[in-house]
Amino acid sequence: MTDKLREKLINAGRVLVDEGQGDYVWGHISVRLPDNPNRFLMKPGCVGVEEMTPDNIITVDIEGEKVAGDWPRHNEVYIHSEVLRARPDVNCVIHTHPENVVAFSSLGKPLAAISNDGTMFSGGVPVFAETTDLITDQPRGKAVAKCLGSSGILILRNHGLVAAGKTIEEAVFLAVKLEKACRIQMLAEMAGGPKLFVKEEELAAKRARTNRGDSQGNAFSYMVRRWHLRCGCEVPAEYRASLENFDRSGYKKG
Ligand SMILES: [Zn+2]
Repeated sequence: MTDKLREKLINAGRVLVDEGQGDYVWGHISVRLPDNPNRFLMKPGCVGVEEMTPDNIITVDIEGEKVAGDWPRHNEVYIHSEVLRARPDVNCVIHTHPENVVAFSSLGKPLAAISNDGTMFSGGVPVFAETTDLITDQPRGKAVAKCLGSSGILILRNHGLVAAGKTIEEAVFLAVKLEKACRIQMLAEMAGGPKLFVKEEELAAKRARTNRGDSQGNAFSYMVRRWHLRCGCEVPAEYRASLENFDRSGYKKG
């Protein structure tokens, strides 16, 4: 019953690593079970986030206890359990240690609207600074969920990011876009610092265009295709580049 969900989780792990979100065997992704909102599937410990298989994915409950699966559970499980507990609208949580996000977080500067990606986050990104240590117990997990609030993204200072989406596609989109926004700002900082920004009067409209639902799904499908094409594997039918597979809702003339 969860085969499709496991398959999407596996593909999400692959594209996250493709996008610079891998950190050897650390970092994780979870997805809530549709028929049991107090349980979720999660990447196991000991393997890379791109090494998930239908068999090694574990099942965890809302208290952070593993209820199914042979592989170990990450110590930072409480990021997932507490965000999923606090946010019924969220079904997928990602925690990674992307290099540009971590380096950017050490600058103590706000993310600026200097790129399309930076504009996407111009409504503000919460920064969790209560600890720079790992989130290894429920109270810390609850504190992260509180800091996240109603946002879809959060920076863990000197540590990484947390992305929370209604769908796997949305959470992946938020995570990869934050890394890119930080990378572009770091480039500008290294070149003497950004001097020109997205025009104030254009900011709100541009921000609305940068994170459309159709973009999340289409970008996810593209990244899954790219992974399969690079490794010479057959692209799964639901991700193939065919007219039936695209979400065209964002295109005015259909
Ligand atoms: Zn971590």
